[in-house]
Amino acid sequence: MNVILVGPAGSGKGTQAEYIKEKFNLLHLSTGDMLRAEIASGSELGNEVKSVIDNGLLVSDDLMVSMIEKRIAKDDAQNGVIFDGFPRTLPQAKALDEMLTKNHNSINKVIEIQVPRADLIARITGRYTCVKCGAGYHKLFKQPSKEGVCDKCGSTDFSQRDDDNEESANKRLDAFEKLTAEILPYYKDQSKLYSVDGTKAIPEVTSQVMSAF
Ligand code: AMP
Repeated sequence: MNVILVGPAGSGKGTQAEYIKEKFNLLHLSTGDMLRAEIASGSELGNEVKSVIDNGLLVSDDLMVSMIEKRIAKDDAQNGVIFDGFPRTLPQAKALDEMLTKNHNSINKVIEIQVPRADLIARITGRYTCVKCGAGYHKLFKQPSKEGVCDKCGSTDFSQRDDDNEESANKRLDAFEKLTAEILPYYKDQSKLYSVDGTKAIPEVTSQVMSAF
């Protein structure tokens, strides 16, 4: 089974992806995470995309499509994939369909998580993660139980994404709104689109997501 999760930055996409991944034994592919790993590795590709990402702009379709094509050819993708952050444009959506069709595969569900912009800005600008184990926290909504100490691993080292500032977040949300306006009708016409209310508590959003399956 192949699933696309569509939601703006801060919509809780990552949390829902984790759940779906466990439930159906799928590979979770977040293109944002893949690109950040490239940057962290110091590769030529990473250096190329860093300024694009920091400015809240989109990486080129060609680069994204070839990155995904290589990744889904690997063994761990053969049971199915949750695409998170991809496709973001109509050419990416069409290219994804083509590469899946080649392997006698297809997209089964597209789940859209809807959250109003004001809520998103508050969520994005306050979020941070533990550098050691990756656990996610929020300055307003989810502090570690002991200030400055990770609940999961005890580390005191935290970081915030460079692009999680208000200016970059607004740019990303502008781009997201413009582009989802392109891709959502594409999947709606194929009767694959399910929209859920992402302002609800996490378990309630999860149960809305599950009702799509
Ligand atoms: P995300 O973590 O999904 O918010 O992605 C962070 C940044 O990576 C985005 O703002 C884009 O610059 C870039 N990016 C991630 N996925 C894509 C994609 N499918 N197409 C183009 N750029 C992408």
